[in-house]
Amino acid sequence: MSARFDQKISETLADPRLQLAIYTATGRLMSHRKAVVSEDALPEYQELRTQASAIKRHTIENLDWYLEEFERNVIAHGGHVHWCRTATDVADVVLGIAKQRGARLIVKSKSMTTEEVDLNERLSHHGLESVETDLGEYILQLMHQTPYHIVAPALHLTRQDVAKVFEDSLGVPHDIVIENQTLTARGVLREKFLNADIGISGANFLIADSGAVTIVENEGNARLSTSAPQVHIAIAGIEKLIPRAQDLATFLKLLARSATGQPLSVYTSFLSGPRKPGEVDGPTEFHVVLLDGGRTKLLADAEKRESLHCIRCGACLNHCPVYRKIGGHSFPWVYSGPIGAIITPQFHGLDSEPALPFASTLCGACAEVCPVKIDIPKILLELRAEVRDVEKQNADGQLERAAFRAFAYLAVRPKLWSRVLAFGRRLPVWPLGPAGAWFSERELPVPAARSFRELWKERQGR
Ligand code: SF4
Repeated sequence: MSARFDQKISETLADPRLQLAIYTATGRLMSHRKAVVSEDALPEYQELRTQASAIKRHTIENLDWYLEEFERNVIAHGGHVHWCRTATDVADVVLGIAKQRGARLIVKSKSMTTEEVDLNERLSHHGLESVETDLGEYILQLMHQTPYHIVAPALHLTRQDVAKVFEDSLGVPHDIVIENQTLTARGVLREKFLNADIGISGANFLIADSGAVTIVENEGNARLSTSAPQVHIAIAGIEKLIPRAQDLATFLKLLARSATGQPLSVYTSFLSGPRKPGEVDGPTEFHVVLLDGGRTKLLADAEKRESLHCIRCGACLNHCPVYRKIGGHSFPWVYSGPIGAIITPQFHGLDSEPALPFASTLCGACAEVCPVKIDIPKILLELRAEVRDVEKQNADGQLERAAFRAFAYLAVRPKLWSRVLAFGRRLPVWPLGPAGAWFSERELPVPAARSFRELWKERQGR
């Protein structure tokens, strides 16, 4: 485990306010979800999961074909498609469009893909102001923080925290009433919407047969970001494809239910191409930026490529006993919880944080609630095996192998085994050293004063 991962976990565990905030918020999301996926509320829930899983599997296995179909249809509707291999490529595309239009101000709706490529930071280096318009994301931007959770980015903050942030950053009076805080943000953001040159969004789904981008949200900020400015740029990972518009009937029933426990999000936008002649609003330019960012590498892995089926609902985070203790900022990348534990090492390499696949109890709750049936525990086990293979090459692995060799040697030599155990029992404490952190969290049974063999021998001798 890296020192940073270890330290973040310790800090989160030691903060009772944070523990309560995470536990309460995830607990609320869990109970909302439970109410809307029950047998009474949605009898076809399991059938929908099976359908969604099959659609995703089919799409990912034929991704090249559907991507080309999507591109053809975006162009047919008057839009542009940009193919990007890396985060730098994404920033270059956005900067190129901004430069051509002389743009200065960008409004942005919530998007994990843009978090993935650290877009705001890259744009600000080139003098562009990029403002988050989702309330949670806006608060985090003021705090210079990354999202704590895939769908509830400010899940770790209380109303008192937000009052302090607004007071310090916006100079407004300290106010802990949530409605007033919302009005404050609304007032600031409304100005930004009206003056923005470019609107950037993510995409929940890219629809191949219609070249459309689908965005689900609750605040209406994504709809404003994509329709008020003259230019709309949607940035999405290539795995967001689904074949047909009618497939949305399956995914939309699952996404909001799994994410927030709503039957449907408040706003669902279907965006294809720029404003058409005769239409009164909408952008005059429509761009879709498609990011690889490590995804095609994963496509080649038949065992683990189902990681690309994820629709970013966040349900696995809410139900994960590890996420509920260590929170989102302990994780090394923007994706946290069980889905973060499987895609971070696959996108960034196992050495980015080798302990990540082990940050799980393997209880299986994530797989049970995943709307697209990703077998996360199975992928975690495969990643663990890969970490062990790598460790075999280094000192840790050699130490572990040496320990097991010593055990194997002793286990078949009962007399020597007894002597070693007798010696161990006489040690004043269990050895700590580098294993100190492990032992500090666990209570080991105190070794018995006499071994079973000794007691048995004594009994036989009576
Ligand atoms: S892995 Fe499944 S449960 Fe987790 S965020 Fe993705 S779709 Fe949701």
